[in-house]
Amino acid sequence: MSNYRLTDEQRSLKEAARRFAENKLRPIALETERKGEAMSREALKLMAENGYVGLDIPTEYGGLGLDIMGCAVVLEELSSVWFSASTNAMSLLTGPLLVFGTDEQKQNYLPAISSGNLLTAFALTETDAGSDASSIQTFAARDGDDWVINGRKIYITNGARADLIVLFARTDRDAPRGEGITLFLIEKGSPGFSVGQKYDMLAHTANPVAELVFDDCRVPNSCILGEPGGGFRYMQVGFSKARATYGARCAAVAQAALNYALDYMQTREQFGQPLSSFQALRFRAAELYAKIEAARQLSYHACALADAGTDDAPVAASMAKLFGSEVSTKVTEQCIQFLGGHGLDKDHPVERFYRETKLFQVGDGSSEMLSLLISRHLNKQAQAGMHARLASD
Ligand SMILES: Cc1cc2nc3c(=O)[nH]c(=O)nc-3n(C[C@H](O)[C@H](O)[C@H](O)COP(=O)(O)OP(=O)(O)OC[C@H]3O[C@@H](n4cnc5c(N)ncnc54)[C@H](O)[C@@H]3O)c2cc1C
Repeated sequence: MSNYRLTDEQRSLKEAARRFAENKLRPIALETERKGEAMSREALKLMAENGYVGLDIPTEYGGLGLDIMGCAVVLEELSSVWFSASTNAMSLLTGPLLVFGTDEQKQNYLPAISSGNLLTAFALTETDAGSDASSIQTFAARDGDDWVINGRKIYITNGARADLIVLFARTDRDAPRGEGITLFLIEKGSPGFSVGQKYDMLAHTANPVAELVFDDCRVPNSCILGEPGGGFRYMQVGFSKARATYGARCAAVAQAALNYALDYMQTREQFGQPLSSFQALRFRAAELYAKIEAARQLSYHACALADAGTDDAPVAASMAKLFGSEVSTKVTEQCIQFLGGHGLDKDHPVERFYRETKLFQVGDGSSEMLSLLISRHLNKQAQAGMHARLASD
């Protein structure tokens, strides 16, 4: 298996991101989370001014132009301090926009995203179409040079405040399953587009989720990303990239929780001894540490394959996200246990880490859906008479 030790360049990138996250982002994160508010535009601009928005956007469009491994190491540092901020550092839209967008779309949107002036949202989920995303009912009908869109999207991160929405809409009712779905780039203020319900969620309050309503929303044909009907295929570019880095982001949150718990156990005394002297707790911490390292290595591996563009890259990315999210939810839960009742107290950050990690198992491909994708890959190999080999072979 290859050795995924970071290069000197990646280490310096990571160090710089850590300094920014610790010194500039942490105070804003603590204040915003304490008040339960949304991340401010000023905070997004601060990230952009320091080069931490548009990580994967080429430098000619004002981004950092990082490869996927580079994005992962920066995202880790941002995530360990404030997961919500890290979500705004790399838009899911960038991947498909770079590959399938027109020059005009790239010029219009990429520099504005990199500078923190344009916040994007990704609108796929509907009331009756969650895991089964192919069954979405939002429909766009052609009308001369325009499209007229009707439907509703739920739980859309940053939905109420995004300037640009990447919308999945059906454009062909008779197309086979998974096809006939088109990506539209909808700007805030488009006629017939409005924000509906604002949801009160367990976590990620800094990037609030909202319902989006399209009621005879009329947009020009130039709003289509790529060709009509290519929606899911195009988004795989964004998903593969995001999922490869996601494992490292999960590992970073888990490591932040474990570090906090380890420090706490040095000073908290019971039965006349620090908690860190109890072997039962130390052994549990050791196991968690090993799992975090494994999750991170799997993610680095997936990023390396994604950068190399190998056929195994999408399945490696699914494994990285599946494993990383499962590990981080277990680790953060155990970190609360290390602090006992204090772990549930909002004065300690572990309760936030615990709430944050729950979304990891649900959003951007739930654990069950990722297991389904991986199992299909295994099945395909078995049907071809091949033994399942590891992606790292
Ligand atoms: C905080 C937050 C932010 C979100 N942000 C966005 C966003 O920005 N854009 C967006 O489009 N969506 C967003 N979502 C929605 C999210 O993508 C969906 O919640 C997710 O896809 C799951 O869909 P569902 O909630 O309808 O669950 P369901 O599809 O109803 O599934 C319920 C459970 O059953 C499991 N399940 C379903 N089918 C199967 C099967 N065949 N086999 C085994 N298990 C199965 C699922 O994995 C899940 O555990 C967000 C959700 C949250 C909570």
